Amino acid sequence: MGTPFLDSLGRSVTYLRVSVTDRCDMRCVYCMSETMSFLPKAEILTYAELERLCAAFIRSGVTRLRVTGGEPLVRRDVGDFFQAMGQWLHRPGGNGHLEELTVTTNGSRLAEHAGMLAGAGVRRVNISLDSLDSEKFHRITRRGALDQTLAGVRAARLAGLAIRINTVAMAGVNDDEFDTLLAWCGEIGADLCLIETMPMGETGEDRTDRYLPLSAVRADLSRRWTLEPLAERTGGPARYLRVRETGRRLGLITPMTHNFCESCNRVRLSCTGQLYPCLGDEGATDLRQPLREGASDADLLHLVQSAILRKPKGHDFVIGRRADDPAAMRRHMSVTGG
Ligand code: SAM
Repeated sequence: MGTPFLDSLGRSVTYLRVSVTDRCDMRCVYCMSETMSFLPKAEILTYAELERLCAAFIRSGVTRLRVTGGEPLVRRDVGDFFQAMGQWLHRPGGNGHLEELTVTTNGSRLAEHAGMLAGAGVRRVNISLDSLDSEKFHRITRRGALDQTLAGVRAARLAGLAIRINTVAMAGVNDDEFDTLLAWCGEIGADLCLIETMPMGETGEDRTDRYLPLSAVRADLSRRWTLEPLAERTGGPARYLRVRETGRRLGLITPMTHNFCESCNRVRLSCTGQLYPCLGDEGATDLRQPLREGASDADLLHLVQSAILRKPKGHDFVIGRRADDPAAMRRHMSVTGG
């Protein structure tokens, strides 16, 4: 195995999120503008390029890989990529292996792909779903259909995949639904994870008055549910509670009110081959050009290690810091991979 990636603070990087496309069949109000334009195909890494980069990460100690986007399941032949990544799962020998291969999806194509994912070795999926009200779901996603995502949830359950529902908490939009969502997740045997809105990329919407601190949501839910803090940490931003009434977990992702950076173990590879050591920082290293100019694995690893050494200690998202710029960060989550 190659030298494991360590940053300047001694955090080891064992988790890679890889975006396979910036395209999406939804236009969620907090994520993209209605008239989002997507990148030309030539700018997107081919599967062969993605596989080569992922293999280099795995050989250097990355053991968990999450495939995201955009909407990963809208990319043509995405099953081939999952199959290729699945080959790294639990592979004996010292040349790197994956312990886990996961995906984050809006669920619109899951009915079609759940079996393929399970066959490739995926055991858990994160499904984004912000409302169980079909009209509201359509308004938030600007073009999604709740029925289709629910069919995806059913297919994932049938395929035996563990499910975490990701819900972006928005004041005045879905804050009346958290009880319903918690109960529903209990019924279907899924965890629920609430996410604070992050100010990323121009979306054509002002997010300032949609922001909902999850500390207040937790206090409110505690009046009706028994929420028991769990010690488990995944190196990621979620903090988990056990919901005693359902037996399932409630995760809270609080980038705005909380700093989760000290234990951060992850980096992100965008669909154009930019390596982002931190979701909340614009700093990126281009791996696509060296890759296309014939860089060796050693050259690529050197670039990756240098980028990881520049991983910042932490990030600071501020909504509405500049009155003329509602998007504190210009980059859209769909490009980096949320
Ligand atoms: N299309 C896939 C999906 O919907 O899950 C994967 C990509 S999406 C960018 C990943 C996650 O990021 C989704 O759960 C989405 O709700 C979340 N997300 C996108 N923009 C966000 C923002 N500005 N603040 C908080 N979460 C955001």
